[in-house]
Amino acid sequence: PRLANQIAAGEVVERPASVIKELLENSLDAGATRIDIDVEEGGVKLLRVRDNGRGIIESDLPLALSRHATSKIIDLDDLERVATLGFRGEALASVSSVSRLVLTSCAEGADQAWQVETEGRDMNPRVQPAAHPQGTTVEVRDLFFNTPARRKFLRTERTEFSHLEEVVKRLALSRFDVAFHLRHNGRSVLSLRPAHTEQEAQRRVASICGPAFIEQSVTIDQERGGLRLWGWVGLPTFSRSQADLQYFCVNGRMIRDKLVAHAVRQAYRDVLFNGRHPTFVLFLELDPAVVDVNVHPTKHEVRFRDGRMVHDFLFSTLYRALAEQRPDGQGP
Ligand code: ADP
Ligand code: MG
Repeated sequence: PRLANQIAAGEVVERPASVIKELLENSLDAGATRIDIDVEEGGVKLLRVRDNGRGIIESDLPLALSRHATSKIIDLDDLERVATLGFRGEALASVSSVSRLVLTSCAEGADQAWQVETEGRDMNPRVQPAAHPQGTTVEVRDLFFNTPARRKFLRTERTEFSHLEEVVKRLALSRFDVAFHLRHNGRSVLSLRPAHTEQEAQRRVASICGPAFIEQSVTIDQERGGLRLWGWVGLPTFSRSQADLQYFCVNGRMIRDKLVAHAVRQAYRDVLFNGRHPTFVLFLELDPAVVDVNVHPTKHEVRFRDGRMVHDFLFSTLYRALAEQRPDGQGP
């Protein structure tokens, strides 16, 4: 079961994008309202995440890095395995074992910041005084410098960065209240201020998905039987050549779900947007008691207590909104 858990937990340290995901989730867990991400060479050379969250107290700093890790990592094979599978609750330990990592933090209410530094499987990181405002900075350099087999699986700088950027976008779309700034090789890629109003939310979506998506989409906002669906669905005139533009957020968590994908596809097809690939940024809000977001440990999937009801709600809401946009003006 232990191994099964590890496999089910997903690949924590597969590539720079998976590292960023863990670091951003930690920052959000710590209550950060602003997150700055600096990346060099697709993240292989440098990944730095700075937040203004609660921080880590001095005595917890070494624990954050070494938890469970020491007893497991025995030889290079084990390192490769950690890099491939990762361990839930040990993201920082896993990342620190395959990189040069500096963790700097100033805890809420503390009068001093502290720092630990590790290089690969360093068992006894020393804690030193540092300068840092309240919050935490995790700096990861030279990812996989000591795991050549893993490093070989990395793609080009551009590909690695696009995976990483996608992770940031997904989180930024699920947390409008948090500011995100992403820089690659010194250039600003995303600069997202907190969005509290509808207009600010729309601006964030335009920044992330491109202004053309907002211009060529239908705005959705529908509430029925304790379910609320809001967001944007792209019209068939909006074509996007690159990756899929499909974001679906359930109660603040970005997910990929078969039932959801099916409902959207069916609405598209039935409105006769034949062969069109749906594009959407949608938010579903419902009573947390009727949805289980922890079906899969990586939390991409959900299980609705009444899947049919959710499917019908999604389908009918989207069908009606899209049908009104049909060129022939024929409503449903
Ligand atoms: P997990 O998040 O599953 O507990 P991690 O290895 O990701 O495991 O992080 C270890 C611990 O380090 C966290 O539980 C948290 O206490 C602390 N930590 C990590 N990153 C941050 C951060 N950005 N701000 C505050 N605490 C953090
Ligand atoms: Mg974590």
